[in-house]
Amino acid sequence: MTVKPIRLFGDPVLRTPAEPVVDFDKELRQLVADLTDTMLEAHGLGLAAPQLGVGLRVFTYHVDDEEPGHLINPQIMELSEQDQEGEEGCLSFPGLYFPTKRAWRVRARGFNMHGDLVTVEGTEMLSRCVQHEIDHLDGVLFIDRLDRETRKYAMKAIREAEWAGETPPTVKVSPHPTFGRAF
Ligand code: ZN
Repeated sequence: MTVKPIRLFGDPVLRTPAEPVVDFDKELRQLVADLTDTMLEAHGLGLAAPQLGVGLRVFTYHVDDEEPGHLINPQIMELSEQDQEGEEGCLSFPGLYFPTKRAWRVRARGFNMHGDLVTVEGTEMLSRCVQHEIDHLDGVLFIDRLDRETRKYAMKAIREAEWAGETPPTVKVSPHPTFGRAF
């Protein structure tokens, strides 16, 4: 069990596009294990490698009480035209949730840690999660997806958050329908 500290908003690694994985080796398997353990410990729905300070295109997910999964070098193949509304959070913004519009359904392709081609397909929370994590790999954060007014409100909440600046994070439980879980 390897739980690593999660990087918080303000850390430049979260704004740096990640590099594709080239070697499907033991180190990659360790990274997937670290991401999975840290995500589960934080009760997260997903976690991307840059959130652990690693600039590689890898993320893990754990949605709908299915087994945790992972995807390496993911590419979005299809997004539904139909959108979904809902609260979204991020483990790099502890305790903050904002209404974020996403495509209702997603189909993404990538590799597992053994180098096999895999497809992840889903709606609602899984779709939201896959879009959120692939954004992380491009240095894009969920606050970038907010409408103008919500973003203004979000930036104020972020400035006022206890973890802003040097203060270590505290875990809060959200009253919102994500049940305090984030990506
Ligand atoms: Zn996130």
